Amino acid sequence: MSGHATRGEFGLIEWIRERTAARPCPWTTLGIGDDCAILAPTAGRGMLATTDMLMDGRHFVLERDGAEAVGYKALGVNISDIAAMAGVPRVALIAVALPRSKAVAIAQGLHQGARAMADRFNVELVGGDTNAWDGPLVISVTLLGETTERGGVTRSGAQAGDAILVTGALGGSLQSGRHLRPEPRVELALAIHRIAPIHAMIDLSDGLAGDLGHILDESGGKGAILDADQIPIHADVPAAARDDDPLEHALADGEDFELCLTVGPHDLGRILARFPGIRRIGIVTDESARLIRFGDGQIKELTARGFDHLRATP
Ligand code: ADP
Ligand code: MG
Repeated sequence: MSGHATRGEFGLIEWIRERTAARPCPWTTLGIGDDCAILAPTAGRGMLATTDMLMDGRHFVLERDGAEAVGYKALGVNISDIAAMAGVPRVALIAVALPRSKAVAIAQGLHQGARAMADRFNVELVGGDTNAWDGPLVISVTLLGETTERGGVTRSGAQAGDAILVTGALGGSLQSGRHLRPEPRVELALAIHRIAPIHAMIDLSDGLAGDLGHILDESGGKGAILDADQIPIHADVPAAARDDDPLEHALADGEDFELCLTVGPHDLGRILARFPGIRRIGIVTDESARLIRFGDGQIKELTARGFDHLRATP
């Protein structure tokens, strides 16, 4: 702990400020220290804005996970939202409600974790708000970014006949602790978008079944048929799940922070050839039904939490 940091809120902000802005991003005219930051976004690009709040006991357990892991995750989940628009993350603001008893140590840990994530993606910290209280830790990150010249990718552009893709293996993230170490797919989304138009995209925070549902809902009420055998199940699942069905974990667990996207059938081959980690898991349809097809030919109804065990569709 530095001399500054022991001097309350202002010492802490000085401590953070000293560690920031050595490498100002091209957006930032004025960083931490004034009433506002001043930004000069790139002309002609759309500005992306997102915010996510994490609360002790709900999204992490401070006692178990430590403040550094919390800071790392808090910024990472926001970067994942920018990735889901095929955007470039630029600047962050971090607001914290600190438990009074260990306020300074926690704030420093949060900052170190957030900085490690920020450095990986060239994100600059341009402001925040610091409060202490008798309640648990709450951290809220606001992240701004920009689209490429091809524009942002929304949830609403899926078309019947599109292939449904995921960028990595799913499930077991919460049980294994992997949710604390998100790997936002920023570069991958940009690289795909460079070689083919992505019709619709979302990052997988609430589980594939539910999040794919958001794409289908927002795209005018489309349907889907998933291939159960093609859904990549994360190695974290078997150890965590043991007796129950690993597929259900892949469909429903959440906090994988992989991307789910849809692309036109003509672009599919090129994308799969170029990005071997990407898996085609199904197809978008014009019917309202959302189904999952098993290797033995059985077809079941997909629900927001996985699939319906009882209702096999003829
Ligand atoms: P004001 O009262 O005008 O909002 P503050 O005293 O809260 O100003 O903050 C002073 C400066 O420090 C501002 O530039 C603010 O963005 C920044 N700041 C405050 N807390 C944090 C934090 N946790 N992380 C980064 N910057 C912070
Ligand atoms: Mg303030």
